[in-house]
Amino acid sequence: MEKQNNLLELQNYIGGKFVPSRFYIDSFDPSTGNVFSRVPDSGNEEVSAAVHAAKTAFPMWSSKSPQDRSAIMNKLADLIEKHLEEFAQAESKDQGKTLTFARTVDIPRSVYNFRFFASSILHHTTECTQMESLNCMNYTVRTPVGVAGLISPWNLPLYLLTWKIAPAVACGNTVVAKPSEMTSLTAWMMCKLMEEAGVPPGVINIVFGTGPKAGEALVCHPDVPLISFTGSTVTAQRIIEKSAPYCKKLSLELGGKNPAIIFEDANLEECINTTVRSSFSNQGEICLCTSRIYVQRSIYEEFLKRFVEVTRKWKVGIPSDPTASMGALISQNHLAKVKGYVKKALEEGATVACGEGVDALNIPPENQGGYFMLPTVIIGLKETSCCMQEEIFGPVTCMVPFDTEEEVIEKANGVKYGLAATIWTRDVGRIHRVAKKLQSGLVWTNCWLVRDLNLPFGGMKASGLGREGGKDSYEFFTEVKTITIKH
Ligand code: NAD
Repeated sequence: MEKQNNLLELQNYIGGKFVPSRFYIDSFDPSTGNVFSRVPDSGNEEVSAAVHAAKTAFPMWSSKSPQDRSAIMNKLADLIEKHLEEFAQAESKDQGKTLTFARTVDIPRSVYNFRFFASSILHHTTECTQMESLNCMNYTVRTPVGVAGLISPWNLPLYLLTWKIAPAVACGNTVVAKPSEMTSLTAWMMCKLMEEAGVPPGVINIVFGTGPKAGEALVCHPDVPLISFTGSTVTAQRIIEKSAPYCKKLSLELGGKNPAIIFEDANLEECINTTVRSSFSNQGEICLCTSRIYVQRSIYEEFLKRFVEVTRKWKVGIPSDPTASMGALISQNHLAKVKGYVKKALEEGATVACGEGVDALNIPPENQGGYFMLPTVIIGLKETSCCMQEEIFGPVTCMVPFDTEEEVIEKANGVKYGLAATIWTRDVGRIHRVAKKLQSGLVWTNCWLVRDLNLPFGGMKASGLGREGGKDSYEFFTEVKTITIKH
């Protein structure tokens, strides 16, 4: 049964079959605030069934050649691409992001995740060394780990889920994945393509539900030796604690409080346009979004003025509006949390340069119940302010002047996170110096969000544990063994 009271009803996908649930969670359309689908509220029972299916399929899938696995993954990528428009519409409705963003970023990247890992799995090599004096040679082999537990967040739903599923299955693992309970729709749609793509039953299982129930059941399942998680630092801490008795392999991609450092010799035009984009893309709901902008004092006033002008053109609209740059935030609670940060900043004596409480939001009457908010720029904050220290994960960015290179490095590093930083300067020597000193897993200079999937992705400090990306994902999703032969 797919529909009840006109609501779309999702089912778990276990062992190649759709399995209805006994309990459901309401899922909201963020652009109206109305419930539009019901998502299974799975727990131990459903997770155990999915793990059992994955474990049963593992010997068959892990013994297939990389070429065979690759062909199936490419077929799945082709099918998602064939239905790109339906996926984009669904992602936009479920998450609140603009249809344009879903169409040009989320779904194309989900397709590319499968194609990239389908290709990269064909090109890895292992090591071999000789020990002449001992008549020994050593070599390494890599084998899949087993059933991979994959847990993803709501901000880039299919994009981040496939960023985990693709390398896991390419390496020969079988998976049980749990998307965010707030954005499950596109994962469910992808399950409908599995059979046609030739994905054998049990290789990819998707269980829907909340973190505390379904997520924790997966984290604590003894037959799941590996967990790849993307989400908040607080949840990651709980996952570390809960998985500790099992000594699981963990990869944790977490939050950020990402600085942009703008030196006076920057190409301002390009820098301002890109930094508005890096602050407010996807409603500021990307872990890599800029939320602290440090501007060298000599250009601060001009930068602020021009930045506010460009921000005011960053239109908030209903997700289907092709002229909108920003849609709705994910939930009522999240909207309240993000607005709460602006309120706290005002209480601390800061100024809102544009956005929340200063400019007018223009949303059609039928969308008044949606979770919309203007892109907001805050100035006049101390480094110790919670707006400068905590991850807001919404369309709020804070701007602060600085004088010297040493000072700005210290400020940029003065938070618990260390995910992504951007540097804007034309001085190559300065780029090398500053980039080396920043405590950040990714440093973009004179650009933002340019990703070569071959290279490591991940954060330092509270932003994560481990790296994913071409070789790093291969290493995470396989076990290595060193073999020595004396001859
Ligand atoms: P979240 O931690 O609340 O939830 C993430 C996922 O974990 C969801 O599927 C959720 O159901 C599940 N979960 C929650 N509690 C759990 C538990 N106890 N055990 C197991 N699973 C549990 O995060 P969110 O609010 O969905 O996402 C926003 C966060 O994700 C932000 O902090 C953002 O920076 C981070 N993020 C990081 C990256 C990255 O690559 N570093 C990318 C995107 C988002």
